[in-house]
Amino acid sequence: MSIAQEIKKRRTFAIISHPDAGKTTLTEKLLLFGGAIQTAGAVKSNKIKKTATSDFMEIEKQRGISVATSVMTFEYKDLLINILDTPGHKDFAEDTYRTLTAVDSVILVIDCVKGVEEQTERLMEVCRMRNTPVIIFINKLDREGQYPFDLLDELEEKLNIRVRPLTWPINMGSAFQGVYSLYEQKLYFFKINKTKVEEDVVEIGLEDEGLPKLLGERDAKQIREDVELIEGVYDTFSETPYQEGRLAPVFFGSAINNFGVKELLDTFCEISPTPQPRPTTVREVAPDEPKFSGFVFKIHANLDPRHRDRIAFLRVCSGKFERGKFFHHVRLDKNVRFSSPFTFMASAKNVLDEGFPGDVIGLYDTGTFKIGDTLTEGENFMFSGIPSFSPEIFKELINLDPMKSKQLEKGIQQLTDEGVAQLFTLELGNRKIVGTVGELQFDVIQYRLEHEYCAKCRWVHMNISKACWITSADQAKLAEFIRLKGNQIGYDKDGNPVFLAESEWMIRMNKENNPAVQFHFTSEFK
Ligand code: GDP
Repeated sequence: MSIAQEIKKRRTFAIISHPDAGKTTLTEKLLLFGGAIQTAGAVKSNKIKKTATSDFMEIEKQRGISVATSVMTFEYKDLLINILDTPGHKDFAEDTYRTLTAVDSVILVIDCVKGVEEQTERLMEVCRMRNTPVIIFINKLDREGQYPFDLLDELEEKLNIRVRPLTWPINMGSAFQGVYSLYEQKLYFFKINKTKVEEDVVEIGLEDEGLPKLLGERDAKQIREDVELIEGVYDTFSETPYQEGRLAPVFFGSAINNFGVKELLDTFCEISPTPQPRPTTVREVAPDEPKFSGFVFKIHANLDPRHRDRIAFLRVCSGKFERGKFFHHVRLDKNVRFSSPFTFMASAKNVLDEGFPGDVIGLYDTGTFKIGDTLTEGENFMFSGIPSFSPEIFKELINLDPMKSKQLEKGIQQLTDEGVAQLFTLELGNRKIVGTVGELQFDVIQYRLEHEYCAKCRWVHMNISKACWITSADQAKLAEFIRLKGNQIGYDKDGNPVFLAESEWMIRMNKENNPAVQFHFTSEFK
């Protein structure tokens, strides 16, 4: 098969949701339809439920599960579909943001009872930044949820995207009858069904006289009215605005009952984008370019503490990846090759000989990779659009055992390479400030430093609320600002200066007083 044909076959997407909306359940049902698994219950949730963490082994176990289910590949209707899992827990939001850089589209799961939740809004902001196409699945229709038109309004308002229902529910909760597919003109009848993949479908137009007999007078009247309203209010669905990330088609269903999932998957196969071009520091790279390129968007530690090796997740962006072939590691300017790269076919790891755009490849790594690293066939560019965002909680890392400072240094370097947290080093005294988006990471880091690197540490809370990357066209002005701010300036892992601000107010004041200095809230800026 040619590279162009391989590209056409591939779909790489992420399922995102607020915790508990049904992401894991939906993933499992998609795999069930794809024939990748035979029974329900095979996909384990990778969510970390605790916010207070006394039981670290539990975190470890849960992290282990999340390696296995980080990427799931299955075949369906001649397509090769890669689902990239994203942690729903807020403390791992950065991990999710980075995963979103490696996909071509997203399915967003909403709980019909809870509507749009906070975490969903933040995830969608990242999708909006990249114009990632989104399909929305409104889940748990077997429960008494919010009025569907209200849900759609809420989606548009809070997620800042136009929506277009493609199916429509007939009641909800205990009276839930099923959904009507507006495009296929089919009625899908709901029944409680937790294990099997089968459907009860009737092909029928809305004007058909048989409708009241099937649904009852009242519901038949209601669905006719609802659809009339939908046709009046919402634009007809078309693929271009969806693919440009401006319009989100909406499906209703109940993942746990396998209901509405097949329509979702079939439509996804029809309309979702094939692997897309990606920006680099030099130019945009198209997937059908003959030369291989790809980037690392996730690094996962090995669970077995006796093996320090890690797994780097590489997204192929162009050309063909080959096992054993030398590729150029751009940041280190050296050639590397991989003897046992693997795929994530249906939860079992398989050695992979060739990979194509859209594929996610697992690479064993002994510390050569950082998040965002680029591999090419000789060219010198780095994939861009994989920024670090300003952390929200900052603590100083204090070494508790002076004999182990080397281990601590190495440990914190490697853990921050994995993207567990961000490290800022102060010039004075080489003090180390660690920034995260959630408290949980500090526990994880402390635990891993001790168990993987034999280094003990404690944390001291810092009065910092934002990290701003600072630049200036006038180098002298920048140097002056850095000198004046002293210990409020840290350096990130790439040596870029960062202003560690106590408050929004401090940032505003410093901006006003230093017009020559630019303040950025992500590590990537033009
Ligand atoms: P995640 O946190 O988004 O991965 O959510 P899960 O898939 O783990 O689901 C959270 C809870 O919602 C679980 O108890 C599921 O059994 C339940 N759930 C998932 N889908 C449905 C549904 O369609 N109806 C109902 N009533 N519960 C569901």
